[in-house]
Amino acid sequence: MEISTVFLDRDGVLNADDPGYVLREEDVQVLPGVPEAVKRLTDAGIGMIIVSNQQAVGKGLLSMERAEAIFRKVIAGAESAGGRITDYYYCPHLRESNCTCRKPGTGLFEKAAGDHDIALSESVFVGDGSGDAGAAEQLGIPFYLVRQGWWERTREFCEDHQIPYTLVSNLFAAAEEILKINQGKTT
Ligand SMILES: [Mg+2]
Ligand SMILES: [Zn+2]
Repeated sequence: MEISTVFLDRDGVLNADDPGYVLREEDVQVLPGVPEAVKRLTDAGIGMIIVSNQQAVGKGLLSMERAEAIFRKVIAGAESAGGRITDYYYCPHLRESNCTCRKPGTGLFEKAAGDHDIALSESVFVGDGSGDAGAAEQLGIPFYLVRQGWWERTREFCEDHQIPYTLVSNLFAAAEEILKINQGKTT
């Protein structure tokens, strides 16, 4: 299998998550190794798409405009070593709304796949949350769990629900594993 696309959760993967929510541009803290990982994957011809739940918008804690500004800041930081994030998608709805786009729903992945002509069978997902694990399972794609953000709770969730995952220290380590797949060094 050749990986063409890496889906990325945002909070807890690209930037430090906040126990509440990331609500201000000045609170964006890009995590170590992220710019280098994005550069390496870009150089290998792999596209990256952010898929994020932003329930704070639905709660009225965050306007769409500020949400977009925070995405731009995260992406600028992630691209600061010369790599490129292809696009980003987010669900602004409340958990209770039962929309199809909030992870573990797969609506945003399907939209991204249509918009960018992505074969989901050639993609993987890197995340820290149980919604990330659930989405990867529903899509039938490999899940890389970073030891950041909500990872401990998510590891338990994966064990309880028998969701396969690969535990990695951060996005840079995930990128190394993904690149090994494309180099045929693992299956
Ligand atoms: Mg997260
Ligand atoms: Zn939604």
